[in-house]
Amino acid sequence: MPPGSARTSVASAFVASALLVVVAACSAPAAETAPAGQLSVEPSPEPSPEQSPDVSPSPSEPTPTTSSLPATSMPTPPGAHRPEWLGTRVLPERPDGLGEVLDTPPELVDRRFPPPDARPVADGFSASAGPVPDEVLARSTWELACPVELADLSYLTMTFWGFDDNTYVGEMIVNASVANDVIGAFERLYDARFPIEEMRVVDAPELDAPPTGDGNNTTAFVCRPTTLSDSWSEHAYGLAIDVNPFHNPYLRGDAVLPELASAYLDRDRELPGMITQGDAATEAFADIGWGWGGEWTSLKDWMHFSASGR
Ligand SMILES: [Zn+2]
Repeated sequence: MPPGSARTSVASAFVASALLVVVAACSAPAAETAPAGQLSVEPSPEPSPEQSPDVSPSPSEPTPTTSSLPATSMPTPPGAHRPEWLGTRVLPERPDGLGEVLDTPPELVDRRFPPPDARPVADGFSASAGPVPDEVLARSTWELACPVELADLSYLTMTFWGFDDNTYVGEMIVNASVANDVIGAFERLYDARFPIEEMRVVDAPELDAPPTGDGNNTTAFVCRPTTLSDSWSEHAYGLAIDVNPFHNPYLRGDAVLPELASAYLDRDRELPGMITQGDAATEAFADIGWGWGGEWTSLKDWMHFSASGR
């Protein structure tokens, strides 16, 4: 979403916090600090999704005129509307600096929001890659202290499917060395109609905002060191991508990120937007040689794909 609106600043705040921690977390997955046995996956309340029957007549079909049914539109699936409060409720802070892990609000249990501030585009995958434009650079987290040269980053635009069955153009900064691979992977997600809520460059103010635990931005480059070590995250090199973080949270001990995403710790739900072993997302990234945080044993980072596997 473009910066500038009040909602953007609020939403940016939560994304920043989530990414801050996620980035921090992503940099140290190899450390076997949390035995697999500690991974407690709590059952979450299953929503009773009301399947939207496909009752739209095709243009070639005559519209029934004798039906006694009221001419109402299709029922809106639960979780399809972005709540007004999204990104505005700052979480209590834990002693470790993360936000409190709270129950997933009912509106987010089966989350299927269209991208904020985005207009659908015509069908068909398209993508572009090139140097990071000045306008994008100015709002990005890149600075001279980052571990990657600006010239080594690429700015991508890519078409993706939203949860509302429309297609949108997203943006992403990645390491130039993987630009073509990343485009290829997202083309496969597009072909599989894998839904993505939001795909935009993280801006600098987001990183310092307090957590609201409800972000869901699919993103790659974020220039951020870990909070618990001096090492950079793979995201700081543009060599890692988080896909639908809310649908694919991070779990380490009792830490969940985003903090309100506990309903998605039950990976058997297999709802739209979730990544599961063998699906289009894991296959697409595996085929470009990237590793998946959903396969880690010391912790789980289901949103995270990276070139190094870290
Ligand atoms: Zn990540």
